[in-house]
Amino acid sequence: MVSIRSRVAGSRALGLAVFSCAATVIASCANRTRHNDSVAANASNNVEASSAIRAGSVAEDAASRAAHEDATATDVDASQTADSGASSLGLRGTGPLNVLYLTIDSLRSDALHPRGALPAAFGEDPARFAPTLAALARRAVVYTRAYALSSYTSMSVGGMYGGRYPGELPRDGYFFGEYRPSALMLAERLSNAGVHTMGAHAHFYFRRGSSGLEQGFARWEIVPGLVRNNTTDVEVTSDRLEALCERLLSEPAVRDRPWFLHAHFMDPHDQYRPHRGSPPPVVARGSRALYLGELWFTDQHLARLLSFVERQPWASRTAIIISADHGEAFGEHGHFRHGFYLWEELVRVPWMFVVPGATPRVIDVARSHIDLAPTILDLLGVPAQRDLPGISLRDELMGAPANPRVVWVDLPQTSDNDRWRARIDGDLSTIARGPNDGTFYVYDLRTDPEQRSPLARTDPRRAAAIEQYRQERGRFRDVPPDQWRPTAAR
Ligand SMILES: [Zn+2]
Repeated sequence: MVSIRSRVAGSRALGLAVFSCAATVIASCANRTRHNDSVAANASNNVEASSAIRAGSVAEDAASRAAHEDATATDVDASQTADSGASSLGLRGTGPLNVLYLTIDSLRSDALHPRGALPAAFGEDPARFAPTLAALARRAVVYTRAYALSSYTSMSVGGMYGGRYPGELPRDGYFFGEYRPSALMLAERLSNAGVHTMGAHAHFYFRRGSSGLEQGFARWEIVPGLVRNNTTDVEVTSDRLEALCERLLSEPAVRDRPWFLHAHFMDPHDQYRPHRGSPPPVVARGSRALYLGELWFTDQHLARLLSFVERQPWASRTAIIISADHGEAFGEHGHFRHGFYLWEELVRVPWMFVVPGATPRVIDVARSHIDLAPTILDLLGVPAQRDLPGISLRDELMGAPANPRVVWVDLPQTSDNDRWRARIDGDLSTIARGPNDGTFYVYDLRTDPEQRSPLARTDPRRAAAIEQYRQERGRFRDVPPDQWRPTAAR
């Protein structure tokens, strides 16, 4: 969520002016536009991530269901003799799994691990503020270069659910927009295949009839008692969301068939609240310290939820996925909070998978949430959906080589923000701004992980990167929003 929903007629002037309290733009990024470029060819294997469609895969639906039922019976018995839930989680399982997908709003990737040469968690020890996630990571396949699909909630979650770049989804075009029924969502694909689908949220935006994100969910619940506030997140909700998850996971349908639960924890979103018991940071101060405290508080409730999961008869055939919808800025590029741009601090997110039978490892090549929907479908035993642009990560989760691929990040123009799109190819990040990609910023992330200095215009790597971007952008099947129209689309 970024703060604000300004369905204000005439807010086409990029509405930055109306965001007095939201993502505060302190210094215009336009100042950073004298770019020059460069580099290179990151040559590596430019396998096109987004357009690759995985052919086949995954078992027959009926066979999968049957296997799941068998596994259910077995595991119920096993649970009666299990001595420790902790040892059962994620260690065995064949056939279709359940998927527990937990996201934490605004969680930067470097809150959990270093981002390239940069220190983790503002120089703090991540295990101090996220001990549960740090422990889980030791049992997980961890992607250290994961990219969200966009830089704020509505676009990022819409893309995750749609399995597409957000600009490709039918929507109204407002900042906190609504996705249309014609958008075929992940939960609809899962429900059509017989999976029990549950969504648990903790912000007003997700209420039914507001975002269109509830499409396909058999159960869709928002924590009770939320304050109606579109400008920020004033609540502390991890406790209520955790309780909601336990309730949903205790319903009979969870025992009957494969299920998918997405729960989205909100507390690290601004406003950053102090939490009693949070360890004092050694280095971080001010809003960064409070943000880490919010992470610590969320982590405490994730511990409760994971402990609950470990005690369930279905624990050993449940895959757990942890990620975030976007990152968070603390003054980098003159920006605070999130949205509006696609800098690394806004779009790099944690991403880890604990999958039964998978050996823990760390994968450092770039990956994108465009692969999330195909992976979840695959883990749940649903046949591959050939219309989705992403590919299932299941093979590499199970040990297959993780080859470099190009990653794209998409921020469509809305009532309140300009159009941005980024192409990340190895160490080279090419960011385009404007409806016609009128301005480019190209960075070498190896030497400039904070994107402080775009490559010089005389650098041949810049021209090559822009040319590559232009050649590949035709793959996007952007659809114009149907209510608020960007100027260029009028
Ligand atoms: Zn968000």
